Amino acid sequence: MSGKSIRDQERTSSQQNNQCEKCDSYISFQFARVFGDNNNRVYGCLNCEKLHVLREGEGGTTNQ
Ligand SMILES: [Zn+2]
Repeated sequence: MSGKSIRDQERTSSQQNNQCEKCDSYISFQFARVFGDNNNRVYGCLNCEKLHVLREGEGGTTNQ
């Protein structure tokens, strides 16, 4: 019984609402994973930055 609620809590904590650190706009979890840092924090989104700027700021990040 309690196992289900624990599982829900883990899900919630691993998929928090993500907001742009710069403009506080809501961003998708997927977007945060792609453009965010290791903590899925995004310091510039499509609302306040252009895509090529985001890519330049991504330097040093490796997925594999
Ligand atoms: Zn933004």
